[in-house]
Amino acid sequence: MNIAANVGPALALEVADADSIAELRRQAEGCTRCDLYRNATQIVFGEGPVKAEIVLVGEQPGDQEDLTGRPFVGPAGRLLDRCLEEADLDRQRCYVTNAVKHFKFTPRGKRRLHAKPNAGEIRRCAWWLGAELTSCSRSSS
Ligand code: SF4
Repeated sequence: MNIAANVGPALALEVADADSIAELRRQAEGCTRCDLYRNATQIVFGEGPVKAEIVLVGEQPGDQEDLTGRPFVGPAGRLLDRCLEEADLDRQRCYVTNAVKHFKFTPRGKRRLHAKPNAGEIRRCAWWLGAELTSCSRSSS
């Protein structure tokens, strides 16, 4: 199955010029395809083996992910770890990422409240998700 082809039309715009996830991440650090990079601390790209048995895709990084630069390390990550444990799956064998790579939030005092990415942001960021999925599917074929 070509999972990358199912991500959406944004994929058809360009082809990623990178032969590794690390290189994709480096390129994505300079992404300005939507406005979410402006207020986020840093990009949160996917991580895990490209020959992963399972690829898990969340919505977007949260507060702790934004601060650490790593996906699924906050409350959602702890829930994911519990679910994987119950399913007898090793997280080290999963590639985990998000549909949107920068944290979107609404400031509320000292807190930053999660805000849902809109359709345009998801569509623009689908280019990166597609590039990740393409890397994973190439490596596993
Ligand atoms: S959220 Fe995605 S599309 Fe928007 S700036 Fe960040 S990496 Fe680029």
